[in-house]
Amino acid sequence: MTRPTPSARAVRAPGADVDLAIVGGTVVPMVRNARDTLRATVLVRDGRIVGLTRERRPKAREVIDATGKLVMPGFVNAHCHGIHLLMRGLSDGLRYHDWLEQLMYRALPAYRAQDALVASNLFCAEAIRSGITTIGDSTDFGNRADLVEATLAGIDAAGLRALYFRNFSDAPPRALRANREPAGRALADIEALIARRATRNPLVRIGAGVNEPHFVTPGAFRRAVDLVEAHDTRLMVHLAEVEADVLIDGVNVVDWMRQHRLLSPKLVAAHCVWLRPPQLRKLAAARVSITWQPSTNAFLADGVMPLRDVLAAGITVGLGTDDSNASDHVNMFTEMRTGAMVTKLRERDGTAVSPDTMLAIATRGGARVLGLDAEVGAISVGRAADLIVIDLAQLAPFQDLASALVYQATGAEVETVVIGGRVVMRDRVLITLDEVKLRREAAKAAAGVVERGGVGGPRRDASTDAGKHLFADAS
Ligand SMILES: [Zn+2]
Repeated sequence: MTRPTPSARAVRAPGADVDLAIVGGTVVPMVRNARDTLRATVLVRDGRIVGLTRERRPKAREVIDATGKLVMPGFVNAHCHGIHLLMRGLSDGLRYHDWLEQLMYRALPAYRAQDALVASNLFCAEAIRSGITTIGDSTDFGNRADLVEATLAGIDAAGLRALYFRNFSDAPPRALRANREPAGRALADIEALIARRATRNPLVRIGAGVNEPHFVTPGAFRRAVDLVEAHDTRLMVHLAEVEADVLIDGVNVVDWMRQHRLLSPKLVAAHCVWLRPPQLRKLAAARVSITWQPSTNAFLADGVMPLRDVLAAGITVGLGTDDSNASDHVNMFTEMRTGAMVTKLRERDGTAVSPDTMLAIATRGGARVLGLDAEVGAISVGRAADLIVIDLAQLAPFQDLASALVYQATGAEVETVVIGGRVVMRDRVLITLDEVKLRREAAKAAAGVVERGGVGGPRRDASTDAGKHLFADAS
């Protein structure tokens, strides 16, 4: 099972002066595939991996004993909205557009900065617990500077790596009119945020975001593309998540975007559930990348993204947990499992996707989508030390490591998480955040949002579907 990867062979022991050493583990570098492993000590200095050696007693300031454990790159949650976590439990039983208009567009304006801070913190805590080290996060109401700043403060405090997409809409639908802001002002604000954050926290970078292509004017969209190209960052847009969003002005949304010169290698298209091979080939030709959110797509009954077609077109794809209130989890293990299962179901083919591909999507794919592939997504010398340690004993018995990680693991097996060389969870104990306190505060904050937003109300029960007879006493 132990075969050195090309990156491992090239490594030289760099001496003993390191900040952190992870000793005795089985390393999955994710360099060539998900099955090559090696027994190695991972050496970390100044936040970066500086060696993969056989040394068992390195002189390190901090040592993590990973004997009997797996050392993997941390997961990249390429598309998420962390602060939506406070609205958990409110989305079930709503159809997509009702979900947007009756819940999201009402509850989000009711957020206060403190709510966003607590939600962002708790989201990060859950992310770290299941081995996520990088997020591609955004706040739907990008024009609310207080929410943007609070969200970023939450990520900073947690110690997560992030590309934060500052959203804007200059032509939103009526139900979202509180989100409207002039394009010039929004784009200037995004540039100011990029400049302001440039020296604040090297782990967190800024991109731009557009909720939907038809929520902005084509001119504003084009200027946003220019902005992210000039700053070498990314522009996130939700694309064809539901069938109703496939056409704009009677034209397929991909063709509409091509006509307006909006396709760019810096563009990240979230969902793409309803795109077919001709459109996917156009995205591929423009080197647009995709993030896939199978749990949200299932929860909201959007449909199943055609992963096989996306991969066949040669598109880079990452995986995301999306709205933490529309699937109600923040966990890349369950995301991989759901993604693999809905893909097999869609294709009615048990060979439709391999666990290796799912693991690559959840790590290297997401890193490339966010423009961070030189930094994260794999374990090699020179990359950032974003690493997770998994207790293999909790997966026993298993025959195939990749398959076990995709189908058996729940996230509870993640023991230790390192981001940029800093240990943020050790032996299941969060270092940067107080989860118990956060849960208490989040419960209070959620109650406030529900009350001020006027959301909540009666939920579905068995009387609204065909399950009522199951509660009747047997005769
Ligand atoms: Zn989203």
